Amino acid sequence: MPIKANDPKRKTWLETSPDTDFPIQNIPFGVFLTRDDIITIGTRIGDYAIDLGALHQLGYFKGIDLTDDIFLQDTLNDFISDGRKTWRLVRDRIAEIFDKENPTLRDNEKHRSHILFTLDEVEMQLPVQVGDYTDFYSSKEHATNVGTMFRGKENALMPNWMHIPVGYHGRSSSIIPSGINIRRPWGQTLPADNTEPVFGPSKLVDFELEMAFITTDANVLGEPIPVNEAEEYIFGLVLFNDWSARDIQKWEYVPLGPFLAKNFASSISPWIVTLDALQPFKVEGPKPEVEQLPYLQYKGKKSYDINLEVYIAPENGDETKICTSNFKYMYWNMSQQLAHHTVNGCNVNSGDMMGSGTISGKTPDSYGSMLELTWRGEKPLTLSDGTERKFINDNDTVVMKGYCKNNEVRIGFGECRSKLLPAIKQ
Ligand code: MN
Repeated sequence: MPIKANDPKRKTWLETSPDTDFPIQNIPFGVFLTRDDIITIGTRIGDYAIDLGALHQLGYFKGIDLTDDIFLQDTLNDFISDGRKTWRLVRDRIAEIFDKENPTLRDNEKHRSHILFTLDEVEMQLPVQVGDYTDFYSSKEHATNVGTMFRGKENALMPNWMHIPVGYHGRSSSIIPSGINIRRPWGQTLPADNTEPVFGPSKLVDFELEMAFITTDANVLGEPIPVNEAEEYIFGLVLFNDWSARDIQKWEYVPLGPFLAKNFASSISPWIVTLDALQPFKVEGPKPEVEQLPYLQYKGKKSYDINLEVYIAPENGDETKICTSNFKYMYWNMSQQLAHHTVNGCNVNSGDMMGSGTISGKTPDSYGSMLELTWRGEKPLTLSDGTERKFINDNDTVVMKGYCKNNEVRIGFGECRSKLLPAIKQ
């Protein structure tokens, strides 16, 4: 089934700027609160938020098998459960409705007034209820950098790393949408030269530049998902800032891995860009350096060329770009991650979120965390206001951006923005 919504030649009757992340070829999905205090599922074209609940009530999805209330919900989980064929039909229909040549909604002012909102009239919500959240560790450069810092160059990669998309089960309750500020966490740390831990606000709060994919109901308990079918069960992706407290992490992570250093907050961009919209940007990923077990061997292109950027803005200051990376650098791709996650029969549900792990490239300006960018604080970064950063300071805002671009179309993710407020008083 061709994806009509991806037609790069299509133009829309809505006014959009040429460099928008959200041209009519994107058609992402999100959830927002409207000016009338109603929560609805929507999409975005240019700087317009589009109420899909209202569109459906007015009959614009006639002929597509959808329940009456599918878009009148406060999460996308049920729509995602409907499966890939439905997502595709709905995106194709939205493309038709907003096509420049289609007068039906274009010339109906009354309908337009129910359906269209400017971005300042809506408040973005979490797009899905995340039942389970898993975080991988799939960038070889990131794993090598961190391993080198903690164990030395010779033992940088653990022996399992080249064979397994290493991951752990994270916590979903603290996943928050872009725009929600977080607090510097308190916790136990072991300061250098101490033998006993101390309790206090983390001194080493960091971001992790990641992307996360959102699944549909993929399998029943006991049945694995084959690597070459995995993409059928991936609805789309968001930008993902996996906030981390490095000093807490260093003390607590042995032997079961990250816990309180990671679960105080993870921020996501609010619009889920569908895997369908990203099809023009499929690329080959890094070649396996050692032979992988058959259940991880895949055919074709399974990586995506998504440019990623991180900025820091101090309070009342300008943003400074501190990192330029790309999703295609990942050694293990999403299909391998999902195949591995389910190979033991673990079941995956609609709305589950899978973090990629920090995405670092080969060059120092492409490292996806302050831990790597400043090499544990040994090489501080200088922001445009002249101040230095080893990690994230109180009242700094971390902004992540992501976009794909070819000579026909730009498909972007918007922003994942979150400010680190000082620790609460205890
Ligand atoms: Mn992470």
